[in-house]
Amino acid sequence: MSGYKGICINKGIFVSDEDALEYAMEHTTQEEREQMIIGWFFSSNWVRKLSCCECEEIIHNGEDYSDYNGAIVCEECDTAYRLRHFRKVC
Ligand SMILES: [Zn+2]
Repeated sequence: MSGYKGICINKGIFVSDEDALEYAMEHTTQEEREQMIIGWFFSSNWVRKLSCCECEEIIHNGEDYSDYNGAIVCEECDTAYRLRHFRKVC
């Protein structure tokens, strides 16, 4: 019978192809499934664009930005932040 044989923490579990969807649904949250379907759906023929959380400017290529605990900041706002921070310290 085709299916999935568990290893490591799933050792001893076998889920047949027939039961795979139901098993996966029972072992994931709605939020996890939503994030996965978004990632899968936009994985081809789409380019991710990020917007700065300060000025909402679109940041191209996802390269020219800084990430403060998940808050995306563009280079310009990052520089402004560093200048403010630098002034406070001195
Ligand atoms: Zn910005």
